[in-house]
Amino acid sequence: MFMENIRNFCIIAHIDHGKSTLADRFLELTNTIPKDKMRPQFLDMMDLEREKGITIKMQPCRMEYKGYILNLIDTPGHVDFSYEVSRSLVAVEGAILLIDATKGIQAQTLANLELARNQGLVIIPAVNKIDSPQAKTQETKEEISKLLNVPESEIFEISAKLGQNVENLLNKAIEKISPPVGAKEKPFKALIFDSKFDIHKGVIAYIRVFEGSIKKEERIYLMGQKAEGHVKEIGYFKPDLVSAEELNAGEIGYIATGIKEPGKVRVGDTIIKILNPQFLSSGIDPLPGYKEPKPMVFTSIYPENPEDFEVLKDAVGKLRLNDASFTFEAEMKESLGRGFRCGFLGLLHTEIITERLKREFDLDLVLSTPSVIYKAITKDKKEHLIYTSADWLDPSGVEEIRELWVRIQVLTPLNYLGAISELLSNTESKHVKTDYIGTEKTELVYECPLREIITKNFYDKLKGVSQGFASMSYEILDWRKANLVKLDILILGKKEESFSRIVPEKDVFKEGKKLVEKLKDNLPSQLFSLPIQAAVGGKIVARETIQAKRRDVIAPLYGGDYTRKKKLLERQKEGKKDLKNKGEIHIPTKVFLEIFRS
Ligand code: GDP
Ligand code: MG
Repeated sequence: MFMENIRNFCIIAHIDHGKSTLADRFLELTNTIPKDKMRPQFLDMMDLEREKGITIKMQPCRMEYKGYILNLIDTPGHVDFSYEVSRSLVAVEGAILLIDATKGIQAQTLANLELARNQGLVIIPAVNKIDSPQAKTQETKEEISKLLNVPESEIFEISAKLGQNVENLLNKAIEKISPPVGAKEKPFKALIFDSKFDIHKGVIAYIRVFEGSIKKEERIYLMGQKAEGHVKEIGYFKPDLVSAEELNAGEIGYIATGIKEPGKVRVGDTIIKILNPQFLSSGIDPLPGYKEPKPMVFTSIYPENPEDFEVLKDAVGKLRLNDASFTFEAEMKESLGRGFRCGFLGLLHTEIITERLKREFDLDLVLSTPSVIYKAITKDKKEHLIYTSADWLDPSGVEEIRELWVRIQVLTPLNYLGAISELLSNTESKHVKTDYIGTEKTELVYECPLREIITKNFYDKLKGVSQGFASMSYEILDWRKANLVKLDILILGKKEESFSRIVPEKDVFKEGKKLVEKLKDNLPSQLFSLPIQAAVGGKIVARETIQAKRRDVIAPLYGGDYTRKKKLLERQKEGKKDLKNKGEIHIPTKVFLEIFRS
């Protein structure tokens, strides 16, 4: 196969605009998947993707068509998975930019387009869902024409669902997207753009070969991690792994690396070949790789059964192979045992990863309330990162608390503008500007604490008030001063660290009340009355009491004997005093779960 006959491209779009459906049509057209095996959104191969109806993972697929090798990568559209998109873009030369004719340009259309442009890719625009009765094909074309600065005649009108005009689009992609460059004769050099753990094949690296070629049994070297491997198998995605003899410059495929430790295979690393025993990698420059994404939301994850810690440890390591954007670090909590503090790119990402841990590794987990990261500047001018409330410092030594601010961009049809402005005015945000896109749509730009977006489920509310039509994206701006305090929970006068949380100073009474009420509903009653208090720096801001449960100690004694009854009641009183003096109650794990989930 000549390199001139290879085309590497991906499909990018906002969530739900039809990427995976368009990929289906390509798979059919090229006979990659036989008709009887076809199912909608074929490349959404994870159960979780099929259940939620969204793409979570990029998925490469190699197709053969009219003498060409087409390597397609389907990508996710949700903002939390944009690292998947940016990694895909480095492995290809072109992108089909898909826009839903019923929705028009949306926030992730713009974000993904910018990523593709920065990568210098050929961009082929197409309006999808023209079959829909709600399609506003002409208006959408006008929007795209302005956005890309191309004549409307260059924008494809397609229905991915019905297959209308899809073949023309594919032919245009082959015509316009450049074939890969890079010499087969040069030393082997490939980029790891994704990876996964396979129970049979071990650690697998998804690669784009930029130069040279590789075969089975050859020895490899991962430049960044300085790890050696031995190629157990190489092959293509069809989209299942299908082994092959050789991978050459310009191609996309996989290598079973023979490396045992998942942590050694890192996305963005460069693989080269070890040619002889005196091998030196000096003189070979690694490929640019990727900028590591910065996790912004943190959650503690514990096995429900503390004995499962080792299983969880193995699981996070293996899962990270398949999702390089989440981080983990071991930690320990008195009430829960050993676990991990994990970092994520957003709330959906948190949900997806914890769900995958549960399913793919059969684990029952306890999660803390997701929190954003804060920073404390102490009086001696040192910076401390605060991931969870347990990291909070004694305020007497702290000069200032800071939090991350984001620039949030909302795109909405004009008729939801009022509702959305109101939603935004209920946050601590600052309006930056309002722009009009075409005649139908508005772009609102605000600056806002990341905390407001994350902890108040802003994304869901936005979708709610706009019947799904508004979309948003955000980017981190900087650290700014914040008025935050730590809200402690005392049960029977004793601080329960696991229930603490960081809240805005102005909300302490509201948050405190909410939390003690929730605890009152969930804690089992005891033989003595149980005070539950919320406090900030020792000052009580809310309280509830669970009334004592009176065990009926005298019930077994029917009839008379008054002195025995009295004796038993006396003894019960003593017992209560005892327990109360010890200040110990057993808080069932179930309650921690309930509170964390609130
Ligand atoms: P993705 O999130 O961009 O991958 O979008 P999907 O391919 O999962 O499609 C999202 C939804 O749009 C699904 O319900 C599809 O059936 C629907 N859809 C995709 N293409 C078309 C189309 O051309 N016409 C219509 N009417 N619906 C479509
Ligand atoms: Mg999809």
